[in-house]
Amino acid sequence: MSNKMQGIGASQGIAIAKVFKLEEPKYLIPEENVNDTTAEIAKLEAAMTKASADITRLQEITLEKLGAEKAAIFEAHGQILNDPAMIDDAKAMINNDQNNAAFAIHTVAQKFIAMFSGMDDPYFKERAADIKDVTDRLIKYLLNVPVLDLATINEEVIIVADDLTPSQTAQLDPKFAKGFACDMGGRTSHAAIMARSLEIPAVLGLKTITSQTKHHENIMINGETGVVILNPSDNEIAEWTAARAKFAEQQGELLTFKDKATVSKDGYTKFVLEGNIGSPKDVHGVLDNGGEGIGLFRSEFLYMDNDHFPTEEEQFVAYKEVLENMQGKAVIIRTLDIGGDKTLSYFEFPHEMNPFLGYRAIRLCLDKEDVFRTQLRALLRASVYGHLGIMFPMIATVDEFKAAKAIVLEEKAKLVQEGHKVADDVEIGMMMEIPAAAVIADQFAKYADFFSIGTNDLIQYTMAADRMSQFVSYLYQPYNPSILRLIKSIIDGAHQAGKWVGMCGEMAGEAAAIPLLMGMKLDYFSMSATSILNARRIISKLEVSAMEKLVEQAIMCETNDEVLALVEAATKEALQ
Ligand code: PEP
Ligand code: MG
Repeated sequence: MSNKMQGIGASQGIAIAKVFKLEEPKYLIPEENVNDTTAEIAKLEAAMTKASADITRLQEITLEKLGAEKAAIFEAHGQILNDPAMIDDAKAMINNDQNNAAFAIHTVAQKFIAMFSGMDDPYFKERAADIKDVTDRLIKYLLNVPVLDLATINEEVIIVADDLTPSQTAQLDPKFAKGFACDMGGRTSHAAIMARSLEIPAVLGLKTITSQTKHHENIMINGETGVVILNPSDNEIAEWTAARAKFAEQQGELLTFKDKATVSKDGYTKFVLEGNIGSPKDVHGVLDNGGEGIGLFRSEFLYMDNDHFPTEEEQFVAYKEVLENMQGKAVIIRTLDIGGDKTLSYFEFPHEMNPFLGYRAIRLCLDKEDVFRTQLRALLRASVYGHLGIMFPMIATVDEFKAAKAIVLEEKAKLVQEGHKVADDVEIGMMMEIPAAAVIADQFAKYADFFSIGTNDLIQYTMAADRMSQFVSYLYQPYNPSILRLIKSIIDGAHQAGKWVGMCGEMAGEAAAIPLLMGMKLDYFSMSATSILNARRIISKLEVSAMEKLVEQAIMCETNDEVLALVEAATKEALQ
């Protein structure tokens, strides 16, 4: 009998193979004390040398297979291994308390792991996994326990494990490792990031898969839906094999769109497909996926990944890097959008009943002008390295926009006076994500050079439904005619004033939204990098003239589902 499980789809694709159950050798940490502490320290140092050689080798393999960014994980491992705070603590335990080396390393590691996993920031939580990975390796060498080498697998398998450490993932050869399924993890864990880079399917967070599977039994995983089937029937295997072939065909077809222009079936060439990024290093993913610009750089991540407000110089370096790497293609950088769910460790926000409706984004920047001006100076100085657009988040009133723009112009004048160069073509625009602004988009269009529609917030504020709440998630309705009418009026308002308009909310990359946005003649679609090629494919198969008629019908519908059904009926055949 087959057994169906539901986990978190962490890397798309379908894999069908035999289970390779990755069972870590079990060992106990000895508690006995030692007499010869000098010999014990020498043992620790020998284990460190072996672990360090492994880490260097893994760094080289990863660099070759996955590139510098992923290999950096092992640089971090090297740093952990040589971190004096940890090693000195362990040596002190050996010297002072005569603890054995494995016990000392284990005890010190537990302390650091507890510290990092207790932090809210997912980045630091992941560091706990790195410490465990490095110290487990050391302990195995100290106890003569075999260090498992996944590189020896030579048949097609799906790895089933409690969790996969970065060093284990790095050893996987995609020729044999067809995917993996783990009890732990989610979309932002290392295992997920590695799976996406290797382009192999992964389903994580399955909770009990290790206890439900046997080594070498059949298994199928769908990294998109998160479904896993253990011991599938012949019929299920046939069904999934066909789906896998279809997926492979679609991926192959998508790649052909990488270097193609974005053109609709009836020859409309004005749509531009861009990527959303959170850090300068994300630019490469956008370019690799055929992105034609950056429609949203969420600059708040520079602030959140820091322990102080980033200085003008620190920000200048980051913005310059993005602009240079995009080589003259448009880059829209959003000014600090902090508050709501995005907080800073070094700044105390006032306590409010509804932080999403409170002191945040442009409201905070207009209040804390020093923070705002520092960012604007960095942006303006970087502007000479490419084609920059500056965008303000959470604008509700024309007065806010005018005030923010006036500060930009003041800083520009000051910089020029100080002898800095500032580009003449910097565009100043705003997010359209608050209904009050959307309704009078035509008025804003007199002052803003462009709009970018932030549907993530526009939907939450229009539907009065917190985007973080699972209890009202049914109200996240991008296709509700109220939302569609608002979006259309924003686009029309901009166009009537001769301004361009983009969308950088999640909706811009959704397959069902693209036909409607084509019909509304949205100019710029900005989305996560991996959605770009499919968006280009969809646009190439549809006619703008037909989509304009579809929009007319859609805005007269009553419900979200009615619109979705209408879009599906109108596009299904063309998109097959
Ligand atoms: C939005 O609100 O749609 C948006 C793009 O901004 P964020 O998701 O960062 O709030
Ligand atoms: Mg927003």
